[in-house]
Amino acid sequence: MRTQKFCQLTDNVWYLEFAEETDRPNIGYVCGSKQALLIDAGNSPAHAKSVADCLREYGLMPPAWAAITHWHWDHTFGMCGLRAKTIVSQKTEQQLRRMRRWEWTDEAMQSRLETGEEIEFCDTRMRREYPDTQKIRVKMADTVIAGEKQLDLGGVSCRLLPVDSPHSRDAMLVLIPEEGVLFAGDADCEDFYHGGCYDIDKLAAYIELLKQLEFTYYVPGHWHPCTKQQEIEFLQEKLDALRRQK
Ligand SMILES: [Zn+2]
Repeated sequence: MRTQKFCQLTDNVWYLEFAEETDRPNIGYVCGSKQALLIDAGNSPAHAKSVADCLREYGLMPPAWAAITHWHWDHTFGMCGLRAKTIVSQKTEQQLRRMRRWEWTDEAMQSRLETGEEIEFCDTRMRREYPDTQKIRVKMADTVIAGEKQLDLGGVSCRLLPVDSPHSRDAMLVLIPEEGVLFAGDADCEDFYHGGCYDIDKLAAYIELLKQLEFTYYVPGHWHPCTKQQEIEFLQEKLDALRRQK
């Protein structure tokens, strides 16, 4: 049974809503006249399947492509359940290559927690999503991009923008100019693998980047979409507070 809502944001942009219990992020869907693009693969084949079920239910075409916003498990472990060709940045590919060597026994998972390679927050939610963690499969991407790439879906274009971000070094933003939508994954969040804090310079640079991009709606990884202005105000308040603490 599907409990997450499938929502239409603009004429050609949809998303399957995030779910906190197992840390499933929003999954974006952009549809042109010729092709469709998914944004992120979800945290498991079951998550990827729930997107496919929604598309079938709404009579929407299956995606030819899936752009991955960053390497974290909840955005990538669904890749092995997709038919779409996956696209990642070079930095995301490096991280997938690292994770592909991981074993999923209790001992191996425990040892990664001890070394700090994995964090408690993810470990707990992974175990909820995967009652049998041995079923976890990390799949490499079909296409790796070194810089910006544009996809023409037929009347709707998508700009894939690999950037640094406060959350991770390998963020890939997806801008859909005709729809005025920016999918950003978790780029605006703290870096949970490095103390869960914001780096002031990275946050300031990210705010400047958002100001330069033209869009109306900002779709984060694990919360409801908001407007560009709301997102910038939200981050600016955080930045001001950090600067006051210094
Ligand atoms: Zn993340």
